[in-house]
Amino acid sequence: MMGIRLKLLASLMALVLLPLIGTQTWLSWRLNSSYTDIETDTLGHEMRRLLVAVDAQLQQQETLVNDWANWTEFADYASSGQGPFAQNNLGQEAIAAAGFDWLAVLDKQGRLLHRVSHTDTRPEQVLRSPWGVVLRRAPDLGERSCGLARQRDRWVLLCRQGIRNSAGLGDPRGLLLVGQTLPKDFEAQLQRLTGLNFSLHAVPPPDVPQARTGAHLRSELGAAEYRYRVDPEHLQAWWPVNDRIGTPVGHLRLDFPRTVSIQARSDLGTVQWQLLGFFILITGGLLVLIDRLVVRRLLRFSHELRAIHQRERWHDQITVDGRDEITQLAQDTNNLLGLIHFQLENLELMAESDALTGLPNRRSFDGALQRALATHKRHGRPLCLVLVDVDHFKAYNDRHGHAQGDTALKAVAQSLLAQAQRPGDLPARIGGEEFAVILEDTPAQGAERWMERVQARLQALAIAHGDSPASPWLTFSAGLVSARADENVDSLFQRADAALYQAKAQGRNQTVYAP
Ligand code: GH3
Ligand code: MG
Ligand code: MG
Repeated sequence: MMGIRLKLLASLMALVLLPLIGTQTWLSWRLNSSYTDIETDTLGHEMRRLLVAVDAQLQQQETLVNDWANWTEFADYASSGQGPFAQNNLGQEAIAAAGFDWLAVLDKQGRLLHRVSHTDTRPEQVLRSPWGVVLRRAPDLGERSCGLARQRDRWVLLCRQGIRNSAGLGDPRGLLLVGQTLPKDFEAQLQRLTGLNFSLHAVPPPDVPQARTGAHLRSELGAAEYRYRVDPEHLQAWWPVNDRIGTPVGHLRLDFPRTVSIQARSDLGTVQWQLLGFFILITGGLLVLIDRLVVRRLLRFSHELRAIHQRERWHDQITVDGRDEITQLAQDTNNLLGLIHFQLENLELMAESDALTGLPNRRSFDGALQRALATHKRHGRPLCLVLVDVDHFKAYNDRHGHAQGDTALKAVAQSLLAQAQRPGDLPARIGGEEFAVILEDTPAQGAERWMERVQARLQALAIAHGDSPASPWLTFSAGLVSARADENVDSLFQRADAALYQAKAQGRNQTVYAP
């Protein structure tokens, strides 16, 4: 049997917990995808910001190249290839002071006019490299052009710029090529400046199959789409870094912590636990309430009703306290129990009494005699039994009819009942026209007198009996015995029967006492 408590629990789970879990799951999924969208958007912005910052930082380095390239004396030197300019101004100390690793000067035709290095990098090697080829190409396109290269585990910024007069005007007279190692704290500076957690790696970008592709970005370091990966804790983006001739030399990596969505997920988790706690609290409270208000009282109700049924104590009552529907039900049940009790009592009464005369019947008389004998033995008080039989009653019936016979039997019963004035006097109808009387606390003489008075009462009614040899009126014979100390019901009955037989034999209409 599924109890009310279990049903309530199942209902609450089905109606509250499951929708709650469903909503939470949907909300969590929805929030996560919204936050991912917002964060990947932000990641794009941050990537752009990072590249702008990188460009700005590189341009600072390039400004120096610009300052050197726009120098009238330098321009004159580049045009002629003559004069002491190079010796005086483009020495090792000078380029070291400017922060350059090496420097080379080409004329408009691309011929090398001057080269100097203060590190182990040899400019002619650089110029011979594919790099140098590109740097040297089209010297008339004298605009500044820089790019990162990887040289001996270091990031080097290589720049070329046309050499012009100090005002930066006119056609370029030659080409200035410069290599400068990026400062060690290049990354750190940029991190400070942008507040971004990025790093510059000297290997090509990793090939991550599940990575997504972002926008196409352009910078001093090349132009490419960035790729990114969405992890639960952070987003990671990388963007390839190419040198001036398009060779991949490394990549920029940006780590973008998902602070907001982590916070949101944590808050959602907290709310989930709170809601679960709330559900447990409400469910627990409801269960306790239902238990107190309904279940326990119904169980008590059922227990009491079962006890009443098993013990057949129909006069007992259901005791349920409170003032509600259950109390009402108990009240109604009590009313029903009362009715059952009343009906049963009636039934018992009917079972114990004789329908015609209303006197106790043989069954209840036997019980009463048993109890009277027990009392007699216990207290030694006198007890008499009288058996009464109507005389020639068959003949009466035959003569006056059965209905008249019934009336006559009622008259006999009435005579006995009228004489039974003490609590110990018990007349009963034990057969068709046979009666018996218990007379407690009554000695034999008293019983004889008692019977005489009954006989007198019947005589007074003067019921005519047309066919009785004993009398013109309806009469009875009686056998009277007084209980002995060791008497039992059977022996008492036998002796009384014998006395009655004797009364019949002696001519009827008399009481015979058998001592
Ligand atoms: P005796 O004097 O020897 O007792 O003769 P009797 O005719 O009274 O005895 P018997 O036992 O022969 O007859 C008893 C009759 O009582 C027979 C039956 O018809 C009648 N009787 C028994 N019960 C009832 C009853 O409830 N109503 C009526 N009208 N008659 C009854
Ligand atoms: Mg008889
Ligand atoms: Mg008779």
